[in-house]
Amino acid sequence: MHVIYGGTFDPVHNGHLRLAVELRERLQVPALSLVPCHIPPHRASPGATSADRLALLQLAVDGEPGLRIDDQELTRDGASYTAITLRQLRAELGPDEPLVMVVGTDAFAGFDRWQDWQQIPQLAHLLVIARPGVELDPDSAPARLLAERHCADLSALHQAPAGRCHFLELPLLEISATGVRERIADGRSPRYLIPDAVWQAIRQRGLYRYCGDRQSSGHV
Ligand code: ATP
Repeated sequence: MHVIYGGTFDPVHNGHLRLAVELRERLQVPALSLVPCHIPPHRASPGATSADRLALLQLAVDGEPGLRIDDQELTRDGASYTAITLRQLRAELGPDEPLVMVVGTDAFAGFDRWQDWQQIPQLAHLLVIARPGVELDPDSAPARLLAERHCADLSALHQAPAGRCHFLELPLLEISATGVRERIADGRSPRYLIPDAVWQAIRQRGLYRYCGDRQSSGHV
């Protein structure tokens, strides 16, 4: 089984990392791939360059063999559509290997605006993670897709290459990249929300800085 967890990771935080570790264990796979997107087609441009976000991710997973980085969306020109990534992976894995795409309900709510979204279930399973405060509209196309393809048992994802959806409610860390960026911009510390090595690199690279009149406290 191959599992991908995509995102902007702007920057990667402990909420992402904790979820990835938890999923790797629950799915009983040796490793899970984090897939940073290059130019997110469905959201505002990120606050750091692709190279910066990738460097921060590398620091975050350093020493954790269960988490890998798949940088194919960063090395591809143009918008990073998930369908293209999944087609590429399917070609590499062959037709029989289960392929799982992890997505939070916040991102999944707009799934029907993704490029070639109707083809995605033919390429991969969808593992939809409940994000607190984000309810799917039951009449929406993503909610209907989830209901039609829903399998109650997570282990069923091992028994087919693609096409199933599983909805998972887990205790998640209440951290968002937006909150991390805001703290840094305000001169407050994001410590314990992101790995120390990531915070150190953010400071060294001068990322997410607020360039107005508020002063950084200087604390880590
Ligand atoms: P932003 O605040 O900039 O929107 P984010 O923190 O939501 O960023 P993304 O990179 O946009 O992070 O998210 C990538 C994926 O990680 C999405 O599927 C999202 O639902 C999920 N995710 C984000 N934060 C958490 C968290 N604290 N716990 C679990 N999953 C999360």
